[in-house]
Amino acid sequence: MRLKVCVQRLDSLIGRLRQCCETFPDKRRGINTTYPLADIAMAAFSAFFMQSPSFLAYQKHLAEGCGRSNCETLFGLRKIPSDNHIRDMLDPVSPALLHPVFADVLTALDRSGGLAAFRRRGRHVLIAFDGTEYFCSKEISCEHCSTRERGKDKNKTKGTGKTEYFHTALCATIVAPGHNHVVPLQPEFIRPQDGAEKQDCETRAAKRWLATHADRYAWLDPIYIGDDLYSRQPMCEAVLAAGGHFIFVCKPDSHTLVQEYIAGVRLPILNVAVKRGARRFTYRYRWLNDVPLRDGKDALLVNWFEMEIRDAAGAVTYRNSFVTDLPVNRRTVADLADSGRSRWKIENESFNTLKTAGYHLEHSFGHGRQNLAALLVTLNLLGFAFHTVCDHAEELWRLARSKASSRVQFFGRLIAITSFVVFPSWESLMQTMAYRQPPPQPP
Ligand SMILES: [Zn+2]
Repeated sequence: MRLKVCVQRLDSLIGRLRQCCETFPDKRRGINTTYPLADIAMAAFSAFFMQSPSFLAYQKHLAEGCGRSNCETLFGLRKIPSDNHIRDMLDPVSPALLHPVFADVLTALDRSGGLAAFRRRGRHVLIAFDGTEYFCSKEISCEHCSTRERGKDKNKTKGTGKTEYFHTALCATIVAPGHNHVVPLQPEFIRPQDGAEKQDCETRAAKRWLATHADRYAWLDPIYIGDDLYSRQPMCEAVLAAGGHFIFVCKPDSHTLVQEYIAGVRLPILNVAVKRGARRFTYRYRWLNDVPLRDGKDALLVNWFEMEIRDAAGAVTYRNSFVTDLPVNRRTVADLADSGRSRWKIENESFNTLKTAGYHLEHSFGHGRQNLAALLVTLNLLGFAFHTVCDHAEELWRLARSKASSRVQFFGRLIAITSFVVFPSWESLMQTMAYRQPPPQPP
């Protein structure tokens, strides 16, 4: 029996993105405005959403033969611009103009009930901070590139080093222990800042992210998670000032004071026997509340805990320690450790694709001189965010995906089928894929 459903949420998110793109400032005057700027941005987005740099080329062929293409029916484009035109026109556009759409994604996920899968203990949502390099080149650069020297000779007698240009983004991603889905939020770009003497870095970018966006996401009651880089007092204070909570990795080597403080105390211990398949493990937790994070009277007091996993033979297979502002006790410690580890437990196709997405698709449009690389990464993240909404809230999409053995196969089929047939809507495309029915007659 067929589901009487349509892909309403996807349609409305694509419509919302288009509305947002229509607000992009267009500096062109009079002539040469054959392609509205919103069409150009949606063209770039469509390649990311369909997970194929060749999508636009295939659709151009199709339009030549059929008079229209899936770019028009699925993404609302009137005309398909060339890659060069996309590059030139999008380069001046600030990625920040796309930020409101990330919030719309969360609202859509919440209204559909999909956000429940990301809530911890009924209310908190985990937001992982993580720096990701998305561009690197020895030849191509722009004013926002960071630089480093590579291949210097060891004696530094000659200037044999080669400058490498790269771009890094601080990604803020909603994650959850227990399943592999992620929701990317707007990134903050790590790049030379106006008037700043020091080089920009990941934690500075994270502080900017909190100052700019934390209010917008306060309704999620977020717990920010991050690696050892983040467990410093200024960062923890920035999270608390933004009304959030934190669970940050706190390595013994980089926090010797914390380590010394703990060494003198008899710590509570909780041992939990865990069975994974046929194998048995012991999870051991230790914790201590109100530990000063640094020296001095103004030291922030944090709650420290450690998790250790031993196999049946007693060998340690995992050990990590964390600091948090949330109360740690016998009832909460296992859940806190699970949350603290969740970002690093996610190693599925989706997150890996997300992490390396900038590399794959940037090549099709280029780097630009101003914002292009950053804008494309932002569109790419939005594509992933839309996929997550579909994966959680669109029955027809889910059914279509369940007919493919993997994400890669699903998108491979999507690209193949749309290369030959113009579908009047997402609904008819997903019906075709979900029920393997013959495609509709050309409109
Ligand atoms: Zn650059």
